Amino acid sequence: MENTDRITLRSTFMHFKTITKHRHLVRKHCFKMGLFYQGLTHDLSKYSPSEFWNGARYFQGTRSPNTRERELFGYSKTWLHHKGRNKHHFEYWIDFYKINGKENNGIVPCPMPDRYIAEMIADRVAACMTYRGDEYNSWDSFNYYQREKEVLKHLVHPDTLNKLEFFLNMLGEQGEQATFKYIKEIFLKGKDKGRWERELEESLN
Ligand SMILES: [Zn+2]
Repeated sequence: MENTDRITLRSTFMHFKTITKHRHLVRKHCFKMGLFYQGLTHDLSKYSPSEFWNGARYFQGTRSPNTRERELFGYSKTWLHHKGRNKHHFEYWIDFYKINGKENNGIVPCPMPDRYIAEMIADRVAACMTYRGDEYNSWDSFNYYQREKEVLKHLVHPDTLNKLEFFLNMLGEQGEQATFKYIKEIFLKGKDKGRWERELEESLN
């Protein structure tokens, strides 16, 4: 669709529809994992004036408005507002410790709590389903992850990255229903706790 970089009635309506549909899909996934509060409140900041009107102005249809904003200005203020308020984004969990010679350029990723890792997975599956439409298959989220993995290694805590990769692989192999069920009944109840700690220790050696 044409990109006017202006707020129109059409772009306002279309943007509202896109974010509401996304929230609906994420809510469905979150409920399957027993995450009711997160399912209901996922991405609510997208309706705040700072995020909503930029979304309507840079509405694209086939990609995120933030991508258009970055093309124009080199960064997206909308995204900074969003990731600073939504704990299901790993970017929320990045601290910065500026000391000369500190490894990883002072970027300090903190481990994400499990319930936000679960919401992040729901978010990624929903985004893939929306962007891929009829072409969607259960490996899409994993394939997308493979392309960004080299960058994520510097920005995501090893424990979080390990869990993310494990569940995206499980999604590919076993599909949504089985993965969401595992997350609800085993992962979020801490029944597989020992293995993550063991794997983290191994990865650090
Ligand atoms: Zn979000």
